[in-house]
Amino acid sequence: MKDLFIAEEVTKDYSNHRALNNVSMSVPEKSIFGLLGPNGAGKTTLIRIINQIIGPDNGKLYFEGERLKPEHVHQIGYLPEERGLYKKMKVGEQALYLAKLKNVSGLDAKKKLKEWFEKFELLPWWDRKVEELSKGMQQKVQFIITVMHNPKLLIFDEPFSGFDPINVNLLKDEILNLKNKGATVIFSTHNMGSVEELCDYIALINKSEKILEGKVTDIKKSYSTGTFSAEIAEAKTDIVAELGNDYIVKVEDKLDNHIKCKIKSQVNSDSSNDLIKKLTNVGKIISFQELLPSMNDIFIKNVTGKYPDELSNNN
Ligand code: ADP
Repeated sequence: MKDLFIAEEVTKDYSNHRALNNVSMSVPEKSIFGLLGPNGAGKTTLIRIINQIIGPDNGKLYFEGERLKPEHVHQIGYLPEERGLYKKMKVGEQALYLAKLKNVSGLDAKKKLKEWFEKFELLPWWDRKVEELSKGMQQKVQFIITVMHNPKLLIFDEPFSGFDPINVNLLKDEILNLKNKGATVIFSTHNMGSVEELCDYIALINKSEKILEGKVTDIKKSYSTGTFSAEIAEAKTDIVAELGNDYIVKVEDKLDNHIKCKIKSQVNSDSSNDLIKKLTNVGKIISFQELLPSMNDIFIKNVTGKYPDELSNNN
């Protein structure tokens, strides 16, 4: 898959602080890319550089294979974390004005905006003043303005902050829709649940340096501990005896001949087929799943160096 955006060894210094140190990252096209890191890591600085609000001190940036240039801004939709609309202006009027700034105007803009307003249940508010809308509704208007001109690259800085769970879901669905229609999405977040749900790729920035990057499934697999959860019904033999010394079995629940357990391979982490064969001798397998660490655990491990309890946080 081609990369839509590439950063190569980007460094950015503020007066007395290096906010980004030699950061490289590649964002594959038509993917959702999570930019993760603790507060102050440098995420917003990188996002501002991509949007050409500030420039890097060193390093190269590429958009669709070309060096990043001012014209690319028209193909980028950016929803900053700190967002504001003109409070006294009417909602629809303001949306049309902001659409015009993005080169969508006239009937086309009105039609597109009305469709989005309808989808986000904002249509009755079209002629009201912005100040009459709740914070969440204002954020929805800003989301619409960010995406309505179908930019190739969408950048959302903490898009879910300030939204209730229903609107978070609405936004997540729309982000997935936009990806399915061909957009590439970069979003920064502290919410690891949304990373698990949405992201194909991530980069983790800590203290101005990128410390982890890749496909979410590959990263999770690389932290595999060879632990599986299994549920077995109609057990006819003793599971510990049947599995032998190659496996540690932690029986979590046993009622009659129904067992729920966690099994850790002592041999290698890729022995799921052997394990399933052995479990078949024990009884009827109801469920079997490898327990991979959550992105939350992986984030904490990489940033603090400490792994949360190996088994307790597995999903
Ligand atoms: P994040 O988005 O990951 O929380 P930022 O990119 O906002 O991090 O900030 C990275 C670091 O750079 C922080 O220590 C922050 O205080 C500092 N910083 C950000 N903007 C400026 C600025 N305009 N001048 C000086 N320091 C800044």
